[in-house]
Amino acid sequence: MTVTQALGDAGRQGLDRLDAQLLLLEALGRKPNDRAWLIAHDSDGLPADAGDRFMRLCARRAAGEPLAYLRGRQAFYGLELQVDSRVLIPRPDTETLVDWVLAVLKDTGTPRVLDLGTGSGAIALAIKYERPDARVSAVDASPAALEVAASNAQRLGLDVAFSAGSWLDGVSGHYDLIASNPPYIAQGDTHLPTLSHEPAQALVSGADGLDDIRQIIASAASRLLPGGWLLLEHGWDQAGAVRALLATAGFSEVGSRNDVAGIARCSGGKVPALG
Ligand code: GLN
Repeated sequence: MTVTQALGDAGRQGLDRLDAQLLLLEALGRKPNDRAWLIAHDSDGLPADAGDRFMRLCARRAAGEPLAYLRGRQAFYGLELQVDSRVLIPRPDTETLVDWVLAVLKDTGTPRVLDLGTGSGAIALAIKYERPDARVSAVDASPAALEVAASNAQRLGLDVAFSAGSWLDGVSGHYDLIASNPPYIAQGDTHLPTLSHEPAQALVSGADGLDDIRQIIASAASRLLPGGWLLLEHGWDQAGAVRALLATAGFSEVGSRNDVAGIARCSGGKVPALG
């Protein structure tokens, strides 16, 4: 089977061309930016083992498994994270939250930062990468997710303190900033079947999708230093509700930030300084 034949087969199984090219490079052990190689070698025969690997990957992709899980990797904020079905796949939308975190912390030396529901570690690791002086802690309720996050931290050489726990239960100390991309999809949302390969625990949060956000907002102030910030990612239609929850809980300077698609995707506020 040649490169061209392999890609043609994948197309007939319904894979889009870019996915097929990336999976073929994966099967060949080549880098994702090597698509030009596929074109230059279109009539080369594939080694049998690479051909078999490619066909298996294509079958899984055709059955709906996300490309990031098949490749075992996802880029986030310039970092390459290892991901598998134990963790949510980091989305470009969440880079908006990291941008906001970095802007808020710009003038704070050695900031203390907490990432709640860290999953693959994406947010915590991006912050530590951009702000090596920060003391970054991260919590997740899933021991399996924490294994993925800790191995990402080790491979990237980023020092983040991980611990198991549900939101702020068991968190000690006080932070300049708490960030979170919690589950925020409503039970029964019609969008959920398209996310069936990712952990439901990382996606779904009660009848209106706001159960976990309500819990975080209710408890975050007790763990923030005076003047500290809580920044949350949420669903495309939840900005108004999340801002109202923050204001009711006593946060000031409540506002939102737009994601890459121009949708208000993150909301946050500041705990009033004492005195
Ligand atoms: N952004 C994800 C999606 O809607 C959901 C992530 C989450 O629930 N935190 O595809």
